[in-house]
Amino acid sequence: MCWIFAYKGGKNPVPLLIHGLEKLEYRGYDSAGLFVMDTNNWLELYIRSTGKVSQLISKLEWAGESIKQWIGIAHSRRATHGGIKEVNTHPHHDINKRYYVVHNGVIEDYHKLKTELEKNWYQFYSETDTEVIAALLDMYKSDDFLKTVEIVINKLVGAFWLVIIDTKYPDTLIGFRR
Ligand code: GLU
Repeated sequence: MCWIFAYKGGKNPVPLLIHGLEKLEYRGYDSAGLFVMDTNNWLELYIRSTGKVSQLISKLEWAGESIKQWIGIAHSRRATHGGIKEVNTHPHHDINKRYYVVHNGVIEDYHKLKTELEKNWYQFYSETDTEVIAALLDMYKSDDFLKTVEIVINKLVGAFWLVIIDTKYPDTLIGFRR
């Protein structure tokens, strides 16, 4: 089982998200990552690592505490699509790094969706089903974050949980469960 944590608020998000990941470590996972940004869009942090949360922590270089408002997402992964590699670790993003996604579960129609996107010259960097979600967000990007998410979700088959960030709207997190 894998886990998602999301945070929006005025505290330093990194220790909070790391603490969340650590609390559920005993349940088993193979890699972990996080993405945070401040709502003024000045600072971003994107780190991922295979192995334990302690390995993720060893990659941290962070001096963002004085900023007042943040959003962030974190994930510990148990691989279903794609090997245990850093490139397959969540959060995933689209090619333009506008949308960041963490995802638990499986997108059953990912192969069909991925083939269609590749026919439209979309280039994938990972082997995951999750990256298909990020690619679809890019394909249907608009100025209406919620509408874009709704369009994309209607294309996905399966049981899953998602939390999505649109870096154009850094005061908002969208979560979804089916
Ligand atoms: N299917 C996704 C992957 O393989 C999510 C796996 C999970 O639930 O951790 O990356």
